[in-house]
Amino acid sequence: MANESGVLVIAETADGAVAGITLEVLGAARRLADGLGQPVQAALLGQGVEPLAQALIAAGADKVYVVDAPILAEYQTDAFVPAAEKVCREANPSIVLLGQTDVGRDLGPRLAFRLGTAVAMDCLDLAISGGRLVMTRACYGGNANAQHTCKAMPQMATVRVKSQEPLAPDASRQGQVIKVAADIDPAAVRTKITDRRKVEAEGIRLEDAEVIVGGGRGVGSLEGFQTLTELADLMKGAVGSTRAACDAGFCSVATQIGLTGKVVSPALYIAVGISGASQHMAGLSGAKNIVAINKDPEANVFRYCRYGIVSDWKAVVPTFLSKVRQLKAG
Ligand SMILES: Cc1cc2nc3c(=O)[nH]c(=O)nc-3n(C[C@H](O)[C@H](O)[C@H](O)COP(=O)(O)OP(=O)(O)OC[C@H]3O[C@@H](n4cnc5c(N)ncnc54)[C@H](O)[C@@H]3O)c2cc1C
Repeated sequence: MANESGVLVIAETADGAVAGITLEVLGAARRLADGLGQPVQAALLGQGVEPLAQALIAAGADKVYVVDAPILAEYQTDAFVPAAEKVCREANPSIVLLGQTDVGRDLGPRLAFRLGTAVAMDCLDLAISGGRLVMTRACYGGNANAQHTCKAMPQMATVRVKSQEPLAPDASRQGQVIKVAADIDPAAVRTKITDRRKVEAEGIRLEDAEVIVGGGRGVGSLEGFQTLTELADLMKGAVGSTRAACDAGFCSVATQIGLTGKVVSPALYIAVGISGASQHMAGLSGAKNIVAINKDPEANVFRYCRYGIVSDWKAVVPTFLSKVRQLKAG
C-alpha cells in the first residue's frame, strides 16, 4: 500500500463501554496525528458496539470504522485478526496503535505479520521525528530505554497502560462513522468459547490503586500477607507481590507485579521483604514514591526507593499498621 495517512487505534471495549486503555491510546494518537497533520482513525470491533463510536470521537477520533457482527461478540483471534486487517487495508493508516493488553498482545503481532510490517510491543512513549514514529520501550528489565523506528508501513506499536494521557472527552466533537462488513467465515474460527467465569476481584484493582503494599518472599507466609492486606485496606490501596511470593503460595498470581506480571503506577509503593530484582521493578517504572523495608542493607530495592528502612518487616509493619489505624480512628 502507498499514500498511507492517519493514526489508527484498535479500540477495546469492557462492560459495554470504551476501555480506559483505548482512551489513553487515543490521547497519544491525537498528539501524533496533530504533529503529522493526519487524521485519527479508530477500529471498533465487536457485537452491538456501534453506539460506542461517538465516545471514540469525543475522545479524539476523526473517523471510526465499525465492524459490528455476532461473530465478534467475544475476542477470538481467528475472527478479530481478519476484521482488524480489513479495517487497516481500508483506512490505510501510517501508524497503527493498540493497548498492551491481552488483546493487544495477541492481535498486534498477528496483524503486523498480515500487513507485512513489524510491531514494537509495550511502548512507554511515542514521538514523531523526521516524519517517522519513534517508539520507546524499556529494555534490560527496565534498567534502560531503547528507541525504535520501523522502515515498513504501517508503523505499529502497542502502548503500556497508564503511560499516555487521555484527552478530556468533548461530546461536541464531530467525526465520521464508517460501517465495514465483517465477512468472516465462521468455519475459519477454530476456537469456541463454551463458558466464561469471572473471578470476583475484591477491592481496588492493582492497576488503578494509588497505594500498593507489595510483598515479597521475605514476608514469609500467608499470614504475613494478611497483615499486608490489612494495611492496604486501611490505606484504601491494594496488595501486590513478587513472583517469588506467588510461587511460594503466599498470594494469588493475579497480584504479581513485574515483567511477567502487572504494570502499576501508584503514588506510593511500600515494598516489604522484596529484593528489588529488575524483573519486579520493571512493573514499577510509573510508581511515584517507593518505600522499601528489607533486612538486608545491600538489597537492590534500596537503589530504587525514596525512603528505605533496614529492618525485619515484622518490627516495622505491625507498628505502622496500628499507627495508621489510630490516625483513622481519631
Ligand atoms: C524471565 C523472568 C521473568 C520474571 N518476571 C518477574 C515478575 O514479573 N515479577 C517478579 O516479581 N519477579 C519476576 N521474576 C523473578 C525475579 O527475578 C525475582 O526472582 C523475584 O522478583 C524475587 O522476588 P523477591 O524479591 O520476593 O524474593 P527474593 O529475591 O528472595 O528476596 C526476598 C527479600 O526479602 C528480604 N527479607 C527476608 N526476610 C525478611 C524480613 N523478615 N524482613 C524484611 N526483609 C526480609 C531479603 O533480604 C530479600 O532481599 C522473573 C524472572 C525471570 C527470569
